[in-house]
Amino acid sequence: MSGTMKTFTMLDIGKTSIIEKPIPTPGANEALVKTTASLICTSDVHTVKGALPVENGRTLGHESVGVIAALGSEVTGFTEGQRVAVNAVTPCFECSYCQRGFTSQCGGLLGGYKYTAQVDGNMAEYFLVPAARANLAPIPDDLADEAAVYACDMLSTGIMGAEHAQISIGDTVVVFAQGAVGLCATIGAKLLGAGRIIAVESIPERIELSRRYGADDIVDFTKGDPVEQIMDLTGGVGADGAIEALGFPQTFEAALACLKAGGTLSNIGYHGENPAPLQLDLPAFGLGMGDKTIRTGLCPGGSERMRRLFTLMSTGKVDPTAMTTHRFAFADVERAFEMMANKEDHIVKPLITY
Ligand SMILES: [Zn+2]
Ligand SMILES: [Zn+2]
Repeated sequence: MSGTMKTFTMLDIGKTSIIEKPIPTPGANEALVKTTASLICTSDVHTVKGALPVENGRTLGHESVGVIAALGSEVTGFTEGQRVAVNAVTPCFECSYCQRGFTSQCGGLLGGYKYTAQVDGNMAEYFLVPAARANLAPIPDDLADEAAVYACDMLSTGIMGAEHAQISIGDTVVVFAQGAVGLCATIGAKLLGAGRIIAVESIPERIELSRRYGADDIVDFTKGDPVEQIMDLTGGVGADGAIEALGFPQTFEAALACLKAGGTLSNIGYHGENPAPLQLDLPAFGLGMGDKTIRTGLCPGGSERMRRLFTLMSTGKVDPTAMTTHRFAFADVERAFEMMANKEDHIVKPLITY
């Protein structure tokens, strides 16, 4: 396929634009996808602020779905025109990291995150899929693009946050922040059988979504110390699991402090914009002997992960589309990005259609 396409590109730190680029040609184990829908992520905002070392001129975006426009010579089992989603993380599934089970860290620390970080992202009229045999995820016929696109990052990351919190049936789990990824962690905690979910949030629209997705109690951090409120709610015992979905030192420290001995802190917040190092409060850490586990992770990729997330949506167990607070045509993507950067109008997720 030849010709040019429109892309949403980072020109420099703090500067973005829609620019034309040549439509790329897929390599042997790559696919070319014609985009139908994307979600803008707070990670894109962090990237444009300079939190991630990215070459100027890279296309932004890592949450997109579309239809297969062309397949590399070694990509079998798929057809042109087929509806597909691709996870934000596109591991090779061959390297030592992938073979040890850490596909998000493909090739090295955070290496599975290739879109924008290593290659052009997918907020564009067309995008390439690396390691396409493992990363192309067919969307079931009964699942709309605007739902499937949540599997690309939000549901995969949020549910991983709950998985890493090692939730047992009946556990009390605290989720810090109810942005889209925190809401998906709430969804994951509920699916994994948490007995009580305490969500830390102050914005009314997000509180409403949080309750809808399974939060039993809301701790409003603007109305007093969140750790004290969590301790009061749990009779002074604390939580079995805490999921940090914001990436602030204060929330990380509170997540550690509200855990009972033996609990697990699962971090999914991105700490790339922290001005200060993360502190570990030693008494809260049991002086290093509290049997508290800190688990970190990056969005799991690959088509099998996507298939499982699609099943949750196809069977009606999860409907992420309530998080889509705003909709834009691709021509207006810069306005959508600006709203996301400034968190205007209580935006949660803007959907971009092509
Ligand atoms: Zn994202
Ligand atoms: Zn790999």
